[in-house]
Amino acid sequence: MSKNVEATLSRYLYRRERLIDMLIAIQETEGYISDSFVTMLASGLNMSPLDVRETLSFYHFLHDSPSGKHTIYLADTVIARMKGYDDVKLALEESVGCQFGEVTEDGLIGLYDTQCIGLSDQEPAMLVDGIPFTHLTPEKVRTLIAAFKSGVHPKALVNPNGYAEDSRDYIESLVDSNIRQPGPIFFGEPVNIDQIIRDAVTLLPMEVIDATSTSKLRGRGGAGFSSGLKWRLCHDAPGDTKYVICNADEGEPGTFKDRVILTQSPEQVFAGMIIAGHAIGAREGILYLRYEYRYLVHYLESTLASMRVRGLLGASVGGNPDFHFDIRIQLGAGAYICGDESALIESCEGKRGTPRVKPPFPVHQGFKGCPTAVNNVETLANVTRILEQGARWYEAMETTESAGTRLISVSGDVDRPGIYEIEWGISLTDVLELVGAQNPRVAQISGLSGECVSAAREGNRTFSYKDLSCNGSLMVFNYERNLLEIVRHFIHFFVEESCGICTPCRAGNVELYNKVSLIIEGRAVEQDLDEIFAWAKIIRGASRCGLGTTSPKPILTSMNAFPEEYKQKLVEQQGSLLASFDLNAALHDFTAATEYFQSVDTVDISEV
Ligand code: SF4
Repeated sequence: MSKNVEATLSRYLYRRERLIDMLIAIQETEGYISDSFVTMLASGLNMSPLDVRETLSFYHFLHDSPSGKHTIYLADTVIARMKGYDDVKLALEESVGCQFGEVTEDGLIGLYDTQCIGLSDQEPAMLVDGIPFTHLTPEKVRTLIAAFKSGVHPKALVNPNGYAEDSRDYIESLVDSNIRQPGPIFFGEPVNIDQIIRDAVTLLPMEVIDATSTSKLRGRGGAGFSSGLKWRLCHDAPGDTKYVICNADEGEPGTFKDRVILTQSPEQVFAGMIIAGHAIGAREGILYLRYEYRYLVHYLESTLASMRVRGLLGASVGGNPDFHFDIRIQLGAGAYICGDESALIESCEGKRGTPRVKPPFPVHQGFKGCPTAVNNVETLANVTRILEQGARWYEAMETTESAGTRLISVSGDVDRPGIYEIEWGISLTDVLELVGAQNPRVAQISGLSGECVSAAREGNRTFSYKDLSCNGSLMVFNYERNLLEIVRHFIHFFVEESCGICTPCRAGNVELYNKVSLIIEGRAVEQDLDEIFAWAKIIRGASRCGLGTTSPKPILTSMNAFPEEYKQKLVEQQGSLLASFDLNAALHDFTAATEYFQSVDTVDISEV
């Protein structure tokens, strides 16, 4: 066994659930994970090579063949395409000297497309060896590539001031936080983390749960489940070993608020995890960080180290002799589906991110079969403020049956892209004015899995759990944008990101993509729209997880908000055949098959 594999296995204590960490570590040193490394890892973990390969093949950022000494991932999002993606992509191909999906002949640079990397406020953007480069232009790209070719390391280019990689200065030199509107919970008054934790651990677990319930905090990850109730269920679940997991896998395109919270207020998040741990009776917390935010790891590790030194993590947290709790960071490896809490748990266990069948729910059987509370970054940061200011203070901000505030990431056709803390109950029109929307026509709320809304006709709708719950993202498109192309791009995302285990999701989204393509090409008839509805019903009704149940939403909600956009592209149906049915292609296949069978006297059935 190679020394590298031995050292990696030993670093992660030969624990199978750390397989993704091990694969990432080996890729970092070897460039990719070869068959021999797969075999060695499998042997060290007492697994089959097939099991290791199963995990390896699932994640976008893991490679089983060389991916270049420098590996470039250019984000292909709708927003990037509005801001010059095509020109940047061409400049990359020309200056690197290979196409996307390839590695240069000398093995120096590999070029790859990827989905959203959480930088929609500063696109086009790319990751080079995990380091973000933003606001790209063709000229900037050519300069960067020339530097890489002359031997300059990407780190030297982004960090001329030599900031320590575990400092916030370093992170801020890479990426703008773009906080446009701080509020009472985020980025405003500093939080006294030490005092909050010391006070919280003097409370009984049930007192913490009651305070969270009284505040009416709901999960900010999407489902909007009561955080207090989730913790109560987890607290009451039988078992001595319980876990807290912070979901920092914000993969919803257009969403980047967690990136900014983790940059500006990581202790506020970690304190929320500690408080959750105290409430449910956990000793271990895991921050599941998306691979795209890997550049934050050293900074977050050093934040945790500082909290340990201050007695806020480790043994006797905050001076409570009965509460021992620590946090580790688990890197993802590139899979949108891991935003689903059960898929995330599978990933934390070192497996493919395949969503589990529920029930049982994670609060009863989560990480390693133990009761687990999974909360997202924004939710946990809210908890810290609630414990500081009191549940009633938080609840008093309630409007439209929604307590606290909402953090949104804004991008697209706006003057001021970035992060805003808004009050619940504010109208869409007011938010569009706040962010400097330019001639807005379409507001895409909550990312791709959310809702497409007409700015002109639905401007009086409000941000609230009762109406536009807005799970962190607002993308704005003006009258010059091609809505159908945007919808097709959104559906392509779901086609790419479906884990494939449910046939309706795997095949149905391809069907939806094809239908939208027909409409764009002017070859669809009314019946195609009916079939879209039929497919959407099947996908939504028969899919295991939220990706499947929400994937038809871009097309359904845009049809609802902009029916004319679809209708005007339809053609009259001629005869009994669908306009989309290609008779010539079908006849060509039939003729070819007939000619083949006529050309052979006997047919060997094993060859057919
Ligand atoms: Fe996978 Fe789609 Fe099924 Fe979810 S709905 S489990 S993403 S195939």
